Amino acid sequence: MPLIFCNVGWMKYYNGIDGDSIERGGEYNQHSTGHEVCNFSDNAGTLYGYVQPTGRINIEKLGASKVDEFIGGMTVVWTAGPVTGGTVVVGWYKDATVYRDAQIIEKPSKLQRKNGISSFRIKAPTSKAVLLPVEQRELVIPRAVKGGIGQSNVWYADKEESREIVRSVVALIDSGTPSPLPDVDCIESTLEGNPRFVAHLRRERNSKIVKAKKSATLRATGKLCCEACGFDFKEVYGDAGDGFCEVHHIHPLSKADGVVKTELSDLAIVCSNCHRIIHRSNPMLSIQNLSKRVSCQRS
Ligand SMILES: [Zn+2]
Ligand SMILES: [Zn+2]
Repeated sequence: MPLIFCNVGWMKYYNGIDGDSIERGGEYNQHSTGHEVCNFSDNAGTLYGYVQPTGRINIEKLGASKVDEFIGGMTVVWTAGPVTGGTVVVGWYKDATVYRDAQIIEKPSKLQRKNGISSFRIKAPTSKAVLLPVEQRELVIPRAVKGGIGQSNVWYADKEESREIVRSVVALIDSGTPSPLPDVDCIESTLEGNPRFVAHLRRERNSKIVKAKKSATLRATGKLCCEACGFDFKEVYGDAGDGFCEVHHIHPLSKADGVVKTELSDLAIVCSNCHRIIHRSNPMLSIQNLSKRVSCQRS
């Protein structure tokens, strides 16, 4: 599937600026003009999307010939980054037509006119588009790393190193929408618009790596004691607590985001109480720091 990534300002609905807001981060978006505020506003069955490229959209990279003015049948992945950091997939158009240059919307809707939207660069049937709700914008697209999205708002993901990212995006599109995080130990409002934090929690719930950490710890110590307070579920709850603990990822997602390999040494065994306390602070507490606090309070 040929993909093109378009980065725009962060909004909840892209359905006009009223009742919404647009956020843009740093130099990444300095050329944007806010023309994307109606990217998911239906106009008689069609969406008219706007992205601010550097120059023209290089549709040859998508398979068009030099004389073509547009190319159809594209999948356009919309990305954005809230001020809380990280660039995530916010939605997509399938069956989209991508134009080399900005086009005039022939019959702008009332809403488009109200928002001063008169041109577009990409159009697609509304029925073929998905805008993810804010709490499901979890797929982080790495930036400033090899194979990751660069400084431009339009990205063709055509490098060998980008394959992994493309694969996860295609999986997301094929699966519809990601399942909500189970057992989220944080209030909704913390999660909302904080994709880095959501990605962090998702990594901690990756059952493969969690299992590996638990069995390595069991092999080494014979139990699963909280590294901050020493709590052992088995010791306190007997069989009901056998094999239970939570696993905390000690590094927050960095600027590079996304596809970061997790080593077992990046993980810590924690009890549920300590885990919540760790995540209650921003930036989160280190295991050492929490451990010190616990022993101070106890003595
Ligand atoms: Zn603990
Ligand atoms: Zn954690």
